[in-house]
Amino acid sequence: MPDATTTIDDLKAVVRQFAAVRKWEPYHSPKNLAMALASEVGELLEPFRWLTCEESREIVNDPVQREAIADELADVTTLLMHLSNHTGIDLSEALRQKMIKNEVKYPPPA
Ligand SMILES: [Mg+2]
Repeated sequence: MPDATTTIDDLKAVVRQFAAVRKWEPYHSPKNLAMALASEVGELLEPFRWLTCEESREIVNDPVQREAIADELADVTTLLMHLSNHTGIDLSEALRQKMIKNEVKYPPPA
């Protein structure tokens, strides 16, 4: 399921089904999910720790490191999908609204 043919709703359904089968919903409060998201972001940082910017660009081409980074990106995405499911916040609409705010906050250089 590549990005080009997968919707956010598809991903939300995948993680919803995974959690439902395991009866994890009672643990999926917004607080718990936000905390889990923060810890997964920390795991995503780990492969890049202490690297220069150039080294961080190179590391993504190492097959072992690339898989580790992909795993953590997937964990972060999973938590985002859970948070969207459990808050009812539509991610696409939230992103579009935030980009409108960002256009005002960060105008392009003259
Ligand atoms: Mg992880």
